[in-house]
Amino acid sequence: MHPNRESAAHAGWTPSSWRSHPIRQAPQYLDAAALDSVEARLRRYPPLVFAGETRRLKSQLAKAARGEAFVLQGGACAESFNEFTADIVRDTFRVLLQMAVVLTFGAKVPVIKIGRMAGQYAKPRSSDTETQDGVTLPCYRGDIINGPEFTESARLPDPARMETGYFQSAGVMNLLRAFASGGYANLHEVHRWNLGFVKRSPLAERYQDLAQRIDETLSFMGACGFNQSAPQINETEFYTSHEALLLPYEQALTRIDSLSENWYDCSAHFLWIGDRTRQPDGAHVEFLRGVGNPIGIKVGPTTTLDDLENLLDILNPKDEAGRITLISRMGASKVGDFLPPLLDKVQASGRTVTWLCDPMHGNTISTADKVKTRSFDSILGEVKGFFSVFQKAGLRPGGIHIEMTGQDVTECVGGAQCLTEADLAGRYETFCDPRLNAEQSLEMAFLLAEELTG
Ligand code: PEP
Ligand code: MN
Repeated sequence: MHPNRESAAHAGWTPSSWRSHPIRQAPQYLDAAALDSVEARLRRYPPLVFAGETRRLKSQLAKAARGEAFVLQGGACAESFNEFTADIVRDTFRVLLQMAVVLTFGAKVPVIKIGRMAGQYAKPRSSDTETQDGVTLPCYRGDIINGPEFTESARLPDPARMETGYFQSAGVMNLLRAFASGGYANLHEVHRWNLGFVKRSPLAERYQDLAQRIDETLSFMGACGFNQSAPQINETEFYTSHEALLLPYEQALTRIDSLSENWYDCSAHFLWIGDRTRQPDGAHVEFLRGVGNPIGIKVGPTTTLDDLENLLDILNPKDEAGRITLISRMGASKVGDFLPPLLDKVQASGRTVTWLCDPMHGNTISTADKVKTRSFDSILGEVKGFFSVFQKAGLRPGGIHIEMTGQDVTECVGGAQCLTEADLAGRYETFCDPRLNAEQSLEMAFLLAEELTG
């Protein structure tokens, strides 16, 4: 590396400096030569995002930190290689847009849309192994590492999967960019889809009023001359994100931006550190401290005040606004007790961070048949609890981070469709965590918009 390119804030950092730090959740590749050659190829491939786009997202996240924007981050727990189809990408994108319109109306600020898409393939696991009928195999770690099938060969980490992950991310990214700017995201169209949702919903009466008010606002804007082809109506901005877990892959996509001469991880706009890999001296923190992207940190019930302070010092020594997003994932019953001390600590330190609520990961339960699920009410309850912590502190919440899909799956119980545990068998398609389906996601947006409007 050119010595001028290493700023004092990033002392000792290189794209590979994480390799001398303790690492958790890393796959053991048996074929080192195959791994080397995949990494070498990935280093030559074009970046998936441009550094300037990540800086733009950072400036928007800085607005969310000040309460001048609201973040909607969502997508599958894990994308799957099998679900690499236009329909699946389109449906998730569409539901996120539909949610965003409703939330914009509720929050009265721009909604920043970030997909857990185009690269969300690597998963941290609570156990290294899985046992079925007396047979124990390595756990599934996400399609970019190994396969979900319960066989020895599928579970062997295969470096070739990184290359597949790259090409699939490129394909999804291309489609998202086309949808965002090619007319698919037209506000009037998105609103029409929402009217369709309200009409179908068992709770139609409850959502009717909000939909009607949005309808009137759009007619008013039209009368004021915002015509169909105005970019504010016809286009949208959409960003991508994933957990920066598989560091050989992230390193290979890390490039110097020719404009700023800084390093950026060009695998996605926004990268986050999971709850299991946020050790201040660990490899994942080391890697992310040197890249210029906006960074998320999951904050759970086990995050201590000292951990949090340490992480903010390491990852954002200059307190750049928009650089750090703290994603609280406490659980509905804990958020009211566990979040306030952390929020107070950050406020007292005078730091600027954007706070999101992930109401999914602290609310996972198992049914009697050992099926992982989450209840719509606990998910909603955690967001409401999160909002109320902010309200009591006189602050505005930065946004939400959810696991959802545009498909009509049956993975989370509850919602207006009243999905029960018995319904879960119908369309339970996730290989990882249970997601809100399209209707549950839209319902969540309508209910949260009511909360935000107050
Ligand atoms: C996730 O976001 O899918 C995840 C694993 O979250 P966490 O690290 O908060 O458990
Ligand atoms: Mn998950």
